[in-house]
Amino acid sequence: MIYLDYQATTPLAPEVAKAMEPWIEERFANPHSPSRWGHEAAAAIEVARKQVEKALEFKGGSVAFTGSATEAINWAIKGTVDKASKGRNRIITIATEHAAVLDTCEWLAARGIDLTVLPVGPDGRLDLELLARELDQRVLLVAVMMVNNEIGVTQPISEIARMAHECGAIMLCDAVQAFGRLEVCHGPDLVALSAHKIHGPKGIGALWMRKGHEPMALIHGGGQEQSLRSGTLSPALCVGFGAAAKLADERCTRDYDHVQKLWKAARDSLGAGWIINGSTAHRYPGNLNIRREGLDAARLLADLRDVAFSLGSACASGSGRPSHVLRALGMDYREARSSIRLGFGRYTKQAELVDACKRIAAHAVAQEKLDA
Ligand code: PLP
Repeated sequence: MIYLDYQATTPLAPEVAKAMEPWIEERFANPHSPSRWGHEAAAAIEVARKQVEKALEFKGGSVAFTGSATEAINWAIKGTVDKASKGRNRIITIATEHAAVLDTCEWLAARGIDLTVLPVGPDGRLDLELLARELDQRVLLVAVMMVNNEIGVTQPISEIARMAHECGAIMLCDAVQAFGRLEVCHGPDLVALSAHKIHGPKGIGALWMRKGHEPMALIHGGGQEQSLRSGTLSPALCVGFGAAAKLADERCTRDYDHVQKLWKAARDSLGAGWIINGSTAHRYPGNLNIRREGLDAARLLADLRDVAFSLGSACASGSGRPSHVLRALGMDYREARSSIRLGFGRYTKQAELVDACKRIAAHAVAQEKLDA
């Protein structure tokens, strides 16, 4: 199997598996219990927390571990609404956000929050003049992701944070696809992260919170994570996240250079006839979302069972609905269903990527001949 689905998840780094091993096998103590073993587990979690914070390189705040980035985002949005001062009941976000943001905002809108979902341009970028016109003293939260998971397009996060702050709003950034791959832009007050997108384990995420902007707790119980997020932490998962963050921090430039070479190799080997979905100037190069006139992407996926890639047109839940992201770029159903997403990264070998791209291109041409 050639794995080209790095936006969905990434392979566990061997260094991470090794770091987690003792915490899965022998070191089973509850990190919140007062025994020596418990203290050792708690200390390992604190080391991991510092590793994640160091990789993020944000000052003036701290990280709380969560069960996923989805949980971190739900907590950030709902917990900020719970703390809102009188008169601030507006949320602004953009049409290409992950469902974790959009569905949480919609849920709140059904309960009285004033929600504005701003459109993006055909390149997937937010027009800052449009944002400026919407910002006012009623805005509580501005939520914009840094790297889009479907199309890889980046947003000007520092500028958006500055504009949000000017009107007294809080800025949330979903940095799940950016963290460990690019330097996360400074400015946001809340940042959602996920371990499994950076060669860490699944089942753990984090929320970085600027001091004073901690959301109200969503999960109540044993008072873990400064009473902000109750529930026994998993030392194995925290240690894995920390190790993955440390590794990503150390290898950031090397990984990025590798991904850039892969991007070029993929484009060269696909040949002509493919159109890139979203901005080419503002994007993370490990995400190649492309379409081809008349292509039946679902058929292509079925034909190439030993290449793991994604349909650019199906939403993350696999519901088969056309992607809200591609629709936000102005694409019609036909264009969306002729789109595929190739995602590659640290462990992708250039030769296997080239092989997969050539086969994808050959199958696409064969489809055209068959349909002609
Ligand atoms: N945000 C983005 C941009 C993502 O790509 C994902 C995962 O697909 C999430 C949020 C949710 O992350 P998790 O799987 O940790 O809940």
